[in-house]
Amino acid sequence: MTTAQPSPDALGDATLGELAQALRGDLIRPGDDGYDEARSIWNGSHDRKPALIVRCRGEADVLKTVEFARSEGLPIAVRGGGHSIPGFSTVDDGLVLDLSLMNAVHVDPSRRTVTAQAGCLWSDVDAEAQAFGLAVTGGLISTTGIAGFTLGGGIGWLVRRCGLTCDNLVGADIVTADGQYLHVSEDEHPELLWALRGGGGNFGVVTSFEFRMQEVGPTVYAGLVFYHGAEADRVLRGFRTAAAGAPDELSMAVNLTTAPPAPFLPEEVHGKPIIAVLGLWSGRPEDGDAATRPFRELAPVVVDLFNPMPYVAMQTLLDPLYPRGLWNYFRSAFFAELDDATTEAVVSAYSQVPNALSELHIHHLGGAMGRVPADATAFGTRDRDFILNAVARTPGAAGYDGVVEWARSATAALGPDAASYVNFTGEASEDRVRASYPTATYDRLVAVKDRYDPTNMFRLNQNIRPSAAADRG
Ligand code: FAD
Repeated sequence: MTTAQPSPDALGDATLGELAQALRGDLIRPGDDGYDEARSIWNGSHDRKPALIVRCRGEADVLKTVEFARSEGLPIAVRGGGHSIPGFSTVDDGLVLDLSLMNAVHVDPSRRTVTAQAGCLWSDVDAEAQAFGLAVTGGLISTTGIAGFTLGGGIGWLVRRCGLTCDNLVGADIVTADGQYLHVSEDEHPELLWALRGGGGNFGVVTSFEFRMQEVGPTVYAGLVFYHGAEADRVLRGFRTAAAGAPDELSMAVNLTTAPPAPFLPEEVHGKPIIAVLGLWSGRPEDGDAATRPFRELAPVVVDLFNPMPYVAMQTLLDPLYPRGLWNYFRSAFFAELDDATTEAVVSAYSQVPNALSELHIHHLGGAMGRVPADATAFGTRDRDFILNAVARTPGAAGYDGVVEWARSATAALGPDAASYVNFTGEASEDRVRASYPTATYDRLVAVKDRYDPTNMFRLNQNIRPSAAADRG
């Protein structure tokens, strides 16, 4: 859809004044105090200059802002936690609808549900839910927003026990392109609920999410064990065997990386290739040592930091390693087995890692995630037990193109057609989006898009093009 775009200067002061007056939240424009901070997102490679940033304080602000963007023909970027890798939560010359002030969480312990406003980060939801010993699959980094994360799927340390985050989404409130405010559940607009479970931000602005929770923690057995990078082949082969026998309460991952100068690592490995095998056992903490043991004896150990710890400690453990502002590109590929060919491809990509910031993650999936029927949600790939995520990073522009190329070739080595995961994708060409969904799912998403956003107002996302736009090519 090519909506005519007015020049931002064409928005008269009177028009903007009216909007500002109508809002409870803030309207931020170029030149205002805080504009540069407000326009920035986590991925430093996207330096965009929106014409307007609206920080909404409630549903009324969201309704007014969507109406304003529509009537002015402004491109609209929706921002939850601002962690979009391809930079969809900011836009040049358009309007950013920022939900970060909407971060209330309500826990219903008797029903074991949590209702969280769309500006929440995982740290907000975890803090409230853990007060009642509850959790749902959340992000590995606690500063990630629940909104984009859930709408794209949601892989975390509870994925094998609880399924994807979107599998636990039982309701949502949403403002659609035509300005309607809808409650979505299994009984109301069920097809829209289906699409919100993995179809991304295509269907409107979600203002709150309701999740089914499980009893988790507050103490879990979790952490990480380090092996020398030279042992990559042996560690991956051992990981394959250990993963095959893992119970659902155990979600583990491998990170092939470079040792940071961290005090918990011996100095002699700093700056050298190192492999972290990490994860969480959410069963009884006293069973955790035995449950995780098969992953902690894959090769000579550099340091083993598995321990009983609070669930929220594990949920924030990795935060310092993923700071805001670096230039980031992610690319992913699901795969069925960590077989010899895959192991060799990953070890080879690791041997060519372009800098100390770039790394290869392999998450073990399956369990509860794999048992959800393929057509129960819009999420694209459940029949593969692993995903490779190539994380390419530089401090700034220098060298960025080279690390992007490395990430592309690392995932391409798993097969040119390997399905990708929309949340771990640094670019969103139509081909990449289509490659994230089976054809039947994609077609069904188009039908939902046709119904709720036929003009493609919400197109700054892993875009499902409505039929009318697709017809125009
Ligand atoms: P935003 O940039 O705010 O939003 C991303 C997109 O989501 C928007 O452009 C929009 O299209 C849509 N969107 C956001 N809010 C709304 C809304 N309220 N209504 C409608 N659409 C909306 N993924 C995992 O599965 N597991 C992980 O452990 C994980 N870890 C990550 C760690 C880091 C450091 C980063 C940067 C990303 C990680 N991701 C992970 C990927 C993450 O799920 C996506 O980047 C996700 O889009 C982030 O959501 P957000 O709300 O923070 O992003």
